[in-house]
Amino acid sequence: MDNYDVIIIGGGLAGLTAAIQLAMEQYNILLLERYHYPHHKVCGEYVSNEVMPYLEDLGIVLPKTVSIDTLQLSTRKGKLLQTKLPLGGFGISRYAFDHALYKKALSVGVSINFETVKNVTFFKDSFNISTEKENGYSAKLVIGAYGKRSGLDKQLNRNFIGKNAPWLGVKAHYALPEFPDNLVALHNFEGGYGGLSKTETGAVNFCYLVSYKSFQVEKNIENFNSKVVAKNKFLKQFLENAEPLFTEPMSIAQVSFDRKQLVEGHILMCGDTAGLIHPLCGNGMAMAIHSAKIASERIDNYFKNSEYGRSNMESDYKKEWEKAFKRRLQTGRILQSILLNPVASSFLMGAIAKSPGFIRSLIKNTHGKPISL
Ligand SMILES: Cc1cc2nc3c(=O)[nH]c(=O)nc-3n(C[C@H](O)[C@H](O)[C@H](O)COP(=O)(O)OP(=O)(O)OC[C@H]3O[C@@H](n4cnc5c(N)ncnc54)[C@H](O)[C@@H]3O)c2cc1C
Repeated sequence: MDNYDVIIIGGGLAGLTAAIQLAMEQYNILLLERYHYPHHKVCGEYVSNEVMPYLEDLGIVLPKTVSIDTLQLSTRKGKLLQTKLPLGGFGISRYAFDHALYKKALSVGVSINFETVKNVTFFKDSFNISTEKENGYSAKLVIGAYGKRSGLDKQLNRNFIGKNAPWLGVKAHYALPEFPDNLVALHNFEGGYGGLSKTETGAVNFCYLVSYKSFQVEKNIENFNSKVVAKNKFLKQFLENAEPLFTEPMSIAQVSFDRKQLVEGHILMCGDTAGLIHPLCGNGMAMAIHSAKIASERIDNYFKNSEYGRSNMESDYKKEWEKAFKRRLQTGRILQSILLNPVASSFLMGAIAKSPGFIRSLIKNTHGKPISL
């Protein structure tokens, strides 16, 4: 059985970042990812600038990105507001972003196998991992970075897995050259909201989150777009003028925003596997990357300091994670419930229109400061 210092399950932004940082510290790292790169993912593709100092420190060179400094918000009745983003961000497709991190991970010596992890067990201070290829791996430590939901959550008997996860995510790229490069727009419609922003290819990403309750009335994406999404006049205009670049939109089901345990069966959970912030905050990718840094630092401490021990490492990870993300998750929950209520969202937009400082403070409460090194 192949033996590693750390095995990372899942090669999205959280898993790849942790792999890069730990391999740069000279640990023997195996990353297990089920799909080959590059591939598209359902995501709004707006990344907060807070990750930049950390990515630069890791020597990650991104392909050309689109700089975004302006946010537009509209209610389903067409009330529109625009504001500057305090920190701003950039647009990049997950196809390019994850691929750039994958190439960096290979260059710093991470072993990457394309296999789906089926089972993880912890026995006598060590982990055994099995995949569909019947390969067996062992490691001293494991990071769970396998995203929002996976068969592994069932195997680990995680508390959120039996609960209702009533959200659906839909995404596709479109050509609309006149869409401004520096804009991220968030438009509300019945039962959900959609984000528009440009990616590095010049394509506009349209990605939305909708409740099943609202979606199931129309049953398919085409009908839902024309009958519900297009009731928002800005989205109607977009859908009428933009040319679809994907044969079919992509979708993901059973998106859950429930609280999750941060350490489960001694596995340190990172990124969405630890908790997903409401997408309207545009901060999930930054949180995934930042949580990988927090986990990697605790792991480094564990290996370098024999008195530190597994239990301190786990409790420190939980403490640091809560300190970094608890407030923004709470603000995100409140904002999502307001946005999906027509009366409350109209009231909120009125309050924002009267006080530009108010929207900036809401944005600050759902984002972090530039990640300190
Ligand atoms: C509709 C929607 C819009 C969003 N828009 C934005 C946005 O604009 N900006 C933003 O910052 N965030 C956004 N987010 C959130 C963002 O997409 C996530 O927070 C981010 O992708 C988390 O990265 P991750 O590495 O934790 O997970 P992922 O990127 O999901 O990576 C997990 C990886 O694990 C792999 N995997 C799963 N199970 C296994 C297994 N058993 N074995 C091996 N591999 C496995 C998967 O293939 C995947 O590659 C949005 C989310 C949704 C739902």
